[in-house]
Amino acid sequence: MAECNKKCSSCESAGACDLKLKKRLSSIKHKIMVLSGKGGVGKSSVSVNLAVSLAMNGMKVGLLDIDFHGPSVPTMLGLRKVTLNTDGGGVIPAEVHNLKVVSISLMLEKDQDNAIIWRGPMKAGVLKQLLENVNWGELDYLIMDFPPGTGDEALSACQLVSDADGGVIVTTPQEVSLSDCRRCISFCRQLGLPVLGVLENMSGFVCPNCGEVADIFGCGGGEDMAKSYNVPFLGRIPLDPELRASCDSGHPFIYHSQHKPAALAFAEAVNKLIAEIESN
Ligand code: ADP
Repeated sequence: MAECNKKCSSCESAGACDLKLKKRLSSIKHKIMVLSGKGGVGKSSVSVNLAVSLAMNGMKVGLLDIDFHGPSVPTMLGLRKVTLNTDGGGVIPAEVHNLKVVSISLMLEKDQDNAIIWRGPMKAGVLKQLLENVNWGELDYLIMDFPPGTGDEALSACQLVSDADGGVIVTTPQEVSLSDCRRCISFCRQLGLPVLGVLENMSGFVCPNCGEVADIFGCGGGEDMAKSYNVPFLGRIPLDPELRASCDSGHPFIYHSQHKPAALAFAEAVNKLIAEIESN
């Protein structure tokens, strides 16, 4: 995809590209952004399981991976070998588990392990092109998996998708993640993006041998923070080695292990999230 180097004021199609974006986004009822202050806390795992869970409930769902530098969605959904095609209607998303999926890594490189080395304006341009050109069709939900932190892509995405329902913020319970998570809440508030809820991931680990719960990264920090910032708390997802294995093997946990405590916690979080969206 080429970067647009023109200033909007000097472009012969000034304004028309925004119309294209608005038209494309108007066929999507709800747009949810999944953010985290820090990498490795489970943001992509949450995005994938949230999207699959909504699709399992009969919703029409799209998942857009905008973590350009560390795209995990294709691996987590077993799509690493897929290359996206285009037709007259735009980019055709990959489909898996009744879910439409787009990641830049499915469009650019044959070798998915090649690094993407782009400066901010390039990323903003590519993001805009993705939002304008992917042919999602009618969707109930578009889940956007953000890169960690509050940098260029996050800012561009919030500005481009100005009618988003809000953000889900993923954190682990320990202070090093919580402090970045507080910045995420501040980012959302400064941009006028509603915080739909905080999800505390990797919260406790049930030993498969003795059954004792070990709070490896602590417990309850996400809930306390949600309370102190007066934002909804969506729940705690425990550490589960099966969840890690399912992410690596491309088999969504919520689909294949529906009755495990972590999957039940996911399902409960999704219900709270839907209730929160519907109450707004
Ligand atoms: P992020 O998107 O925040 O960088 P990921 O979703 O890629 O984080 O998760 C990082 C790693 O942690 C992945 O290997 C994932 O499978 C694993 N993981 C995430 N949540 C859990 C959990 N609750 N239990 C076990 N492993 C998890």
